[in-house]
Amino acid sequence: MDYKVVAIDGPAGAGKSTIAKMVAEKIHYTYIDSGAMYRALTLKVLESKINLEDTDAIIEVSKKVDIDFKDRSIYLDKELVDKQIREERINKNVSTVAAIPEVRKNIVGIQRRIAIGKNVVMDGRDVGTVIFPNAFIKFFITASLVERSRRRCLEIQGTGKHADFEDVKNQIENRDYIDSHREDSPLIQADDAILIDTSGQSIEEGVQEVIKYISLHGGNRNAL
Ligand code: C5P
Repeated sequence: MDYKVVAIDGPAGAGKSTIAKMVAEKIHYTYIDSGAMYRALTLKVLESKINLEDTDAIIEVSKKVDIDFKDRSIYLDKELVDKQIREERINKNVSTVAAIPEVRKNIVGIQRRIAIGKNVVMDGRDVGTVIFPNAFIKFFITASLVERSRRRCLEIQGTGKHADFEDVKNQIENRDYIDSHREDSPLIQADDAILIDTSGQSIEEGVQEVIKYISLHGGNRNAL
Protein backbone atom coordinates (compact mmCIF):
# COMPACT_ATOMS: atom_id res chain seq x y z
CA MET A 1 0.00 0.00 0.00
CA ASP A 2 1.21 3.44 -0.91
CA TYR A 3 0.89 5.77 2.08
CA LYS A 4 0.59 9.49 1.57
CA VAL A 5 2.05 12.46 3.43
CA VAL A 6 0.45 15.90 3.35
CA ALA A 7 3.24 18.27 4.45
CA ILE A 8 2.31 21.60 6.00
CA ASP A 9 5.11 24.01 6.90
CA GLY A 10 5.20 27.65 7.86
CA PRO A 11 6.09 30.18 10.56
CA ALA A 12 4.74 30.26 14.11
CA GLY A 13 1.09 31.13 14.59
CA ALA A 14 0.05 30.96 10.92
CA GLY A 15 -2.80 28.57 11.68
CA LYS A 16 -0.92 25.49 10.45
CA SER A 17 -1.82 23.12 13.24
CA THR A 18 -5.49 24.10 13.41
CA ILE A 19 -5.79 23.73 9.65
CA ALA A 20 -3.75 20.51 9.60
CA LYS A 21 -5.93 18.90 12.28
CA MET A 22 -9.17 19.82 10.50
CA VAL A 23 -7.86 18.67 7.13
CA ALA A 24 -6.68 15.36 8.63
CA GLU A 25 -10.13 14.80 10.09
CA LYS A 26 -11.89 15.54 6.81
CA ILE A 27 -9.71 13.27 4.69
CA HIS A 28 -9.34 10.58 7.38
CA TYR A 29 -5.57 10.89 7.69
CA THR A 30 -3.57 10.79 10.94
CA TYR A 31 -2.47 14.20 12.22
CA ILE A 32 1.12 14.47 13.46
CA ASP A 33 2.51 17.59 15.13
CA SER A 34 6.28 17.59 14.44
CA GLY A 35 6.84 20.69 16.59
CA ALA A 36 5.45 18.87 19.64
CA MET A 37 8.50 16.59 19.51
CA TYR A 38 10.98 19.47 19.72
CA ARG A 39 8.85 20.89 22.51
CA ALA A 40 8.89 17.57 24.41
CA LEU A 41 12.66 17.35 24.07
CA THR A 42 13.00 20.95 25.33
CA LEU A 43 10.84 20.04 28.32
CA LYS A 44 13.12 17.11 29.06
CA VAL A 45 16.21 19.35 28.77
CA LEU A 46 14.75 21.96 31.13
CA GLU A 47 13.52 19.36 33.63
CA SER A 48 16.98 17.77 33.60
CA LYS A 49 18.40 21.21 34.50
CA ILE A 50 20.72 21.13 31.52
CA ASN A 51 22.22 24.45 30.53
CA LEU A 52 20.93 25.48 27.09
CA GLU A 53 24.48 26.25 26.03
CA ASP A 54 25.57 22.70 26.79
CA THR A 55 25.00 21.39 23.28
CA ASP A 56 26.67 18.03 23.95
CA ALA A 57 24.39 17.30 26.90
CA ILE A 58 21.32 18.24 24.84
CA ILE A 59 22.44 15.92 22.03
CA GLU A 60 22.90 13.08 24.53
CA VAL A 61 19.34 13.60 25.80
CA SER A 62 17.99 13.66 22.24
CA LYS A 63 19.58 10.26 21.54
CA LYS A 64 17.95 8.54 24.48
CA VAL A 65 14.68 10.40 24.92
CA ASP A 66 11.43 8.46 24.65
CA ILE A 67 9.03 10.62 22.64
CA ASP A 68 5.81 9.38 21.11
CA PHE A 69 2.84 11.02 19.43
CA LYS A 70 -0.41 9.05 19.60
CA ASP A 71 -4.01 10.09 19.05
CA ARG A 72 -3.02 13.76 18.84
CA SER A 73 -1.20 13.65 22.16
CA ILE A 74 2.49 13.88 22.94
CA TYR A 75 4.21 11.54 25.41
CA LEU A 76 7.58 12.09 27.03
CA ASP A 77 8.98 9.01 28.79
CA LYS A 78 5.45 7.51 28.52
CA GLU A 79 3.92 10.49 30.32
CA LEU A 80 1.30 12.72 28.68
CA VAL A 81 2.77 16.23 28.37
CA ASP A 82 0.30 18.06 26.09
CA LYS A 83 -0.07 20.92 28.57
CA GLN A 84 3.54 21.25 29.72
CA ILE A 85 4.91 21.61 26.18
CA ARG A 86 2.83 24.78 25.66
CA GLU A 87 4.32 26.60 28.65
CA GLU A 88 6.15 29.91 28.18
CA ARG A 89 9.52 28.43 29.13
CA ILE A 90 9.17 26.02 26.20
CA ASN A 91 8.11 28.74 23.73
CA LYS A 92 11.19 30.73 24.72
CA ASN A 93 13.74 27.93 24.38
CA VAL A 94 12.47 25.42 21.83
CA SER A 95 14.05 27.10 18.80
CA THR A 96 17.48 27.05 20.41
CA VAL A 97 17.22 23.32 21.05
CA ALA A 98 15.79 22.70 17.56
CA ALA A 99 18.67 24.51 15.88
CA ILE A 100 21.23 21.84 16.90
CA PRO A 101 21.92 19.64 13.82
CA GLU A 102 22.46 16.35 15.74
CA VAL A 103 19.26 16.97 17.68
CA ARG A 104 17.40 17.42 14.41
CA LYS A 105 18.82 14.17 13.05
CA ASN A 106 17.51 12.26 16.08
CA ILE A 107 14.11 13.95 16.10
CA VAL A 108 13.63 13.52 12.33
CA GLY A 109 14.21 9.78 12.89
CA ILE A 110 11.38 9.72 15.42
CA GLN A 111 9.11 11.77 13.13
CA ARG A 112 9.63 9.42 10.19
CA ARG A 113 9.09 6.37 12.38
CA ILE A 114 5.83 7.66 13.81
CA ALA A 115 4.47 8.18 10.29
CA ILE A 116 5.25 4.66 9.04
CA GLY A 117 2.26 2.70 7.77
CA LYS A 118 -0.17 5.62 7.86
CA ASN A 119 -1.55 8.35 5.65
CA VAL A 120 -0.54 11.47 7.53
CA VAL A 121 -0.94 15.20 7.67
CA MET A 122 2.19 16.51 9.39
CA ASP A 123 2.85 20.14 10.23
CA GLY A 124 6.11 21.85 11.15
CA ARG A 125 9.02 23.76 9.64
CA ASP A 126 10.86 21.20 7.51
CA VAL A 127 8.25 18.55 6.76
CA GLY A 128 8.27 19.13 2.99
CA THR A 129 11.96 20.01 2.72
CA VAL A 130 13.66 17.43 4.98
CA ILE A 131 11.41 14.94 6.78
CA PHE A 132 9.38 13.97 3.71
CA PRO A 133 10.87 15.59 0.60
CA ASN A 134 8.74 13.20 -1.48
CA ALA A 135 5.49 14.11 0.24
CA PHE A 136 2.41 13.64 -1.89
CA ILE A 137 1.54 17.33 -1.55
CA LYS A 138 3.20 20.25 0.26
CA PHE A 139 1.82 23.48 1.65
CA PHE A 140 3.50 26.55 3.06
CA ILE A 141 1.01 28.34 5.25
CA THR A 142 1.77 31.84 6.36
CA ALA A 143 0.16 35.09 7.54
CA SER A 144 1.42 38.57 8.40
CA LEU A 145 3.34 38.94 11.66
CA VAL A 146 0.64 41.23 13.06
CA GLU A 147 -2.11 38.76 12.23
CA ARG A 148 -0.17 35.84 13.68
CA SER A 149 0.54 37.79 16.87
CA ARG A 150 -3.11 38.81 17.16
CA ARG A 151 -4.22 35.18 16.86
CA ARG A 152 -1.67 33.97 19.39
CA CYS A 153 -2.88 36.66 21.84
CA LEU A 154 -6.47 35.51 21.42
CA GLU A 155 -5.36 31.92 21.98
CA ILE A 156 -3.56 32.84 25.23
CA GLN A 157 -6.50 34.95 26.39
CA GLY A 158 -8.77 32.01 25.63
CA THR A 159 -6.99 30.07 28.37
CA GLY A 160 -7.81 32.85 30.84
CA LYS A 161 -4.28 34.31 30.85
CA HIS A 162 -3.12 37.86 30.13
CA ALA A 163 -1.30 38.41 26.82
CA ASP A 164 0.70 41.50 25.89
CA PHE A 165 0.58 42.05 22.12
CA GLU A 166 4.12 43.46 21.83
CA ASP A 167 5.60 40.66 23.94
CA VAL A 168 3.83 38.01 21.90
CA LYS A 169 4.89 39.68 18.65
CA ASN A 170 8.55 39.87 19.74
CA GLN A 171 8.55 36.26 20.79
CA ILE A 172 7.07 35.06 17.49
CA GLU A 173 9.50 37.23 15.54
CA ASN A 174 12.43 35.89 17.53
CA ARG A 175 11.39 32.26 17.06
CA ASP A 176 10.87 32.79 13.31
CA TYR A 177 14.27 34.43 13.05
CA ILE A 178 16.07 31.51 14.69
CA ASP A 179 14.02 28.95 12.72
CA SER A 180 14.68 30.68 9.38
CA HIS A 181 18.37 31.41 9.93
CA ARG A 182 19.66 28.15 11.38
CA GLU A 183 22.12 26.31 9.18
CA ASP A 184 20.46 22.92 9.31
CA SER A 185 17.02 22.66 7.68
CA PRO A 186 15.91 26.27 8.08
CA LEU A 187 12.30 27.25 7.67
CA ILE A 188 11.89 27.86 3.94
CA GLN A 189 9.17 27.24 1.44
CA ALA A 190 9.91 24.09 -0.58
CA ASP A 191 10.08 24.77 -4.33
CA ASP A 192 7.10 22.52 -4.90
CA ALA A 193 5.00 23.75 -1.94
CA ILE A 194 1.71 25.58 -2.46
CA LEU A 195 1.72 28.94 -0.70
CA ILE A 196 -1.36 29.85 1.32
CA ASP A 197 -1.58 33.21 3.07
CA THR A 198 -4.24 33.04 5.75
CA SER A 199 -4.00 36.75 6.73
CA GLY A 200 -7.44 37.69 5.50
CA GLN A 201 -8.91 34.22 5.82
CA SER A 202 -10.94 32.33 8.37
CA ILE A 203 -9.64 28.93 9.46
CA GLU A 204 -12.49 27.28 7.56
CA GLU A 205 -11.44 29.06 4.36
CA GLY A 206 -7.86 27.88 4.85
CA VAL A 207 -9.08 24.31 5.35
CA GLN A 208 -11.21 24.49 2.20
CA GLU A 209 -8.28 25.77 0.17
CA VAL A 210 -6.00 22.97 1.34
CA ILE A 211 -8.69 20.36 0.68
CA LYS A 212 -9.26 21.78 -2.80
CA TYR A 213 -5.58 21.31 -3.72
CA ILE A 214 -5.47 17.81 -2.22
CA SER A 215 -8.52 16.90 -4.25
CA LEU A 216 -6.98 18.35 -7.42
CA HIS A 217 -3.91 16.19 -6.71
CA GLY A 218 -6.12 13.13 -6.62
CA GLY A 219 -5.86 12.47 -2.90
CA ASN A 220 -8.70 10.78 -1.05
CA ARG A 221 -11.46 11.94 -3.35
CA ASN A 222 -13.93 9.64 -1.64
CA ALA A 223 -13.42 11.26 1.70
CA LEU A 224 -13.83 14.81 0.43
O1 C5P B 1 5.10 24.09 15.54
P1 C5P B 1 5.58 24.65 16.85
O2 C5P B 1 5.45 26.14 16.93
O3 C5P B 1 4.99 23.97 18.03
O4 C5P B 1 7.12 24.31 16.86
C1 C5P B 1 7.94 24.68 17.94
C2 C5P B 1 9.38 24.86 17.46
O5 C5P B 1 9.92 23.59 17.10
C3 C5P B 1 9.58 25.74 16.23
O6 C5P B 1 9.65 27.12 16.55
C4 C5P B 1 10.89 25.22 15.68
O7 C5P B 1 11.99 25.76 16.37
C5 C5P B 1 10.83 23.74 16.02
N1 C5P B 1 10.39 22.93 14.88
C6 C5P B 1 11.32 22.58 13.94
N2 C5P B 1 10.97 21.74 12.92
C7 C5P B 1 9.73 21.26 12.82
C8 C5P B 1 8.75 21.62 13.76
C9 C5P B 1 9.11 22.49 14.78
O8 C5P B 1 12.47 23.03 14.00
N3 C5P B 1 9.43 20.41 11.84
